[in-house]
Amino acid sequence: MHLKKAGNLQVSCKNMSEDEWKKKLTPEQYQVCRCSATEPPFDNEYWDCHDSGKYHCVCCDEILFDSEHKFDSGTGWPSFFQPLKEDTIGEKEDVSHGMRRVEVICSKCDSHLGHLFDDGPNPTGLRFCINSAALRLERR
Ligand SMILES: [Zn+2]
Repeated sequence: MHLKKAGNLQVSCKNMSEDEWKKKLTPEQYQVCRCSATEPPFDNEYWDCHDSGKYHCVCCDEILFDSEHKFDSGTGWPSFFQPLKEDTIGEKEDVSHGMRRVEVICSKCDSHLGHLFDDGPNPTGLRFCINSAALRLERR
């Protein structure tokens, strides 16, 4: 693997086997990012974090969110009204658990991040409800 080169990282992440992901991630991160699990609300690292910084993808280190766009949604998960850059976030329809939801994934490595809802605050009206386990905060 060529972890230093961004161009190759994308390829190596998308081609990584499940065993390789298991080695790279903690069991909790693996469940969330690779198996689309949802961590418990109010019992995760960043739901009540007000530190300023950038939130990176825990799998591929892409910068996904900025603390400036984080808001207190009351849901118990870190919530953002917009991503740092639109093209870093992919959207997929998720019909699991008898609901129709929009799943959000890291467009660089396809890892599950959380879900997108349309009941967020201004200016976007969007709520990106993200699992802390999928994020790593780089504090400013
Ligand atoms: Zn990623």
